[in-house]
Amino acid sequence: AYRADEEYDYLFKVVLIGDAGVGKTNLLSRFARDEFSFETKSTIGVEFATRTIHVDGKLIKAQIWDTAGQDLMCLRRYRAITSAYYRGSVGALVVFDLSRRVTFENTARWLQELRSHTDPNIVVMLVGNKADLRHIRAVSVEEAQAFARKEKAFFTETSALESINVADAFTGVLTQIYHVVG
Ligand code: GDP
Repeated sequence: AYRADEEYDYLFKVVLIGDAGVGKTNLLSRFARDEFSFETKSTIGVEFATRTIHVDGKLIKAQIWDTAGQDLMCLRRYRAITSAYYRGSVGALVVFDLSRRVTFENTARWLQELRSHTDPNIVVMLVGNKADLRHIRAVSVEEAQAFARKEKAFFTETSALESINVADAFTGVLTQIYHVVG
């Protein structure tokens, strides 16, 4: 049956967090528009994109928020922005760069900030991005998995560049949210 674009059964807000340069914007553009960019963005602020998916015969509209150009950590002094960013979110992708170990270590801080602003039931997916950079991998699957388990988060590896697992990462979070709230 035909359904108009604006029709949906559920609207879920999902936030992207993680250090600058890990690939958040490209994960989002890959998922929302199947686009990738080799350039680092220069806009400052917060933006979001939407995509609607089917889960169990329901139409789920995902509103995915990304901090454009600047680290949310840098925006922290603006408490209102930080709060607005997290407000109402029911899922989060905590992204790190598999080739830069420090970005994995910093996910602990991102998780802390996330937890301090959101409901304890929020669905969290730890995402190791840039899986295509196999030759310079700096975090093992086992280590990332163990950390995710400890944090009660899901874990997946993606490549926005090679379009590996990107849709699965987002739909995985959305499906879990649906099971929690639906
Ligand atoms: P953000 O600051 O976390 O939003 O990161 P961006 O999406 O702006 O990406 C930062 C840089 O990493 C850009 O030069 C991208 O082209 C690059 N990048 C993003 N995803 C991938 C990926 O999966 N593999 C590789 N090799 N590079 C990526």
